[in-house]
Amino acid sequence: MKTSHIILLAFFIIASVQLSGAPKNSPVAINGKLQVKGVQLCNELGEPLVLRGTSFGWHNFWPRFYNKKAVKWLATDWKCNVVRAAMGVGPKGSYLDNPKFALQCITPVIDAAIKNGIYVVIDFHSHKMHTAEAKAFFTQMATKYGKYPNVIYEIWNEPDYFTWPEVKAYSEELIKTIRAIDPDNIILVGNPHWDQDVHLVAEDPIKNVTNIMYTMHFYAGTHKKWLRDRTDDAMAKGIPIFISECAGMEATGDGPVDEAEWQAFLDWMTDRKISWCVWSVSDKNETCSMLLPRASSKGNWDDSLLKSWGKISRNSIRATNDNVVKK
Ligand code: MG
Repeated sequence: MKTSHIILLAFFIIASVQLSGAPKNSPVAINGKLQVKGVQLCNELGEPLVLRGTSFGWHNFWPRFYNKKAVKWLATDWKCNVVRAAMGVGPKGSYLDNPKFALQCITPVIDAAIKNGIYVVIDFHSHKMHTAEAKAFFTQMATKYGKYPNVIYEIWNEPDYFTWPEVKAYSEELIKTIRAIDPDNIILVGNPHWDQDVHLVAEDPIKNVTNIMYTMHFYAGTHKKWLRDRTDDAMAKGIPIFISECAGMEATGDGPVDEAEWQAFLDWMTDRKISWCVWSVSDKNETCSMLLPRASSKGNWDDSLLKSWGKISRNSIRATNDNVVKK
């Protein structure tokens, strides 16, 4: 590359970073805008980048954790370079019947991610298809946040009993809606059976789009080597994978953590440079809820406030991320 090109590229990175207001040495200050090259998530320079972090739980069930201090704690103490705002769509009190409250919850999380210089997944956390509502929501999000390098759109968390042609048609519609406003931020696309059917995507991927990735979700106690193999096959066929939700116990979110399988998935994701978010920042009496009910809503969670899965999650993120976001 010519020196003049390097200077120009550096200028654009500095310009985009200034736009984000990302603090010096934060993941976003270092990596800038995201892009997909082949099957790999890359930073603005085209170098492979792996995002690792936590998902909040459904906002309608655990609104108390949707605040700026919790995000800051996850960025600094847990060393998350990404967090995921799981905006609940479907259950009583979620986005469909109270969009104002939903936005009141996710906005501080997105804004705090931007302020701390980490990436953030805006997740339309639904099992069913709500095309009109999703289009209106992402129109709003892309208009407000499309200029920030931090933001990743997840347009349908986990389609349950829909076919891939149905999910594909929905996704094409949503991609068109977002791209009319935001030409470049990463869009995550779901697939049938709670994001396990990546083999169907590989047979019939979405064409003529850029910077999209497909989600695979796993619960290590239920989904084992067969899902890693299926995902490997999809990647070999050119399908970029982002694991926006995963955990170590059974797919119900409960039951024992299968530590050997969790480690097998971790090693596999490290080897393939796949990004992941663990489920979830919540305090229910179930294995996947990382925190005890007496934990503060605003971080400062020492070991006595973390349940077993919280400790494993924090250790797994800290072992592999080297964030320099200051407390
Ligand atoms: Mg953009």
